[in-house]
Amino acid sequence: MSYSLPEFLAHALAMEEEAAERNLELADMMEAHNNLEVAGIFRDMHRFSTMHRDSIRERIGKIELPQLKSWQYRWVAPTEIGDEDGFDYMMRPHNALKYARDNEERAMLFYQAVAEQADDPEVKRLAIEFAEEEKEHTEALDGWLERVPPS
Ligand code: ZN
Repeated sequence: MSYSLPEFLAHALAMEEEAAERNLELADMMEAHNNLEVAGIFRDMHRFSTMHRDSIRERIGKIELPQLKSWQYRWVAPTEIGDEDGFDYMMRPHNALKYARDNEERAMLFYQAVAEQADDPEVKRLAIEFAEEEKEHTEALDGWLERVPPS
């Protein structure tokens, strides 16, 4: 589908708000378990997503945004974990990084698909820019996944 600028900005804002929230949660979780190194990674990721969120808000300005359905932007947990095991699973730094990485990739794929299908040149321009940013996040987390092996 081809997004209008307000539709696109609404998705981008919701995705970055979600990313900011989840990264902060993961940072707190790692800190509570005394893994300060991995907590620091999530604090950085949180800072990136709040910066991105703020620049999207600026771009939105007075544009009126449509309502979104939550499944369109929420982070998704890995399919192999159920609700009960989810917490334990996420406590392990490698898994938390993998969770964040997969959601960054998902955002990247979303922006790439939008860029490919966009009719509006401004939507295309922004989507390409955002896809590039998410690609950097995904690659940064790939690097950390190599340094933090599964426990
Ligand atoms: Zn990101």
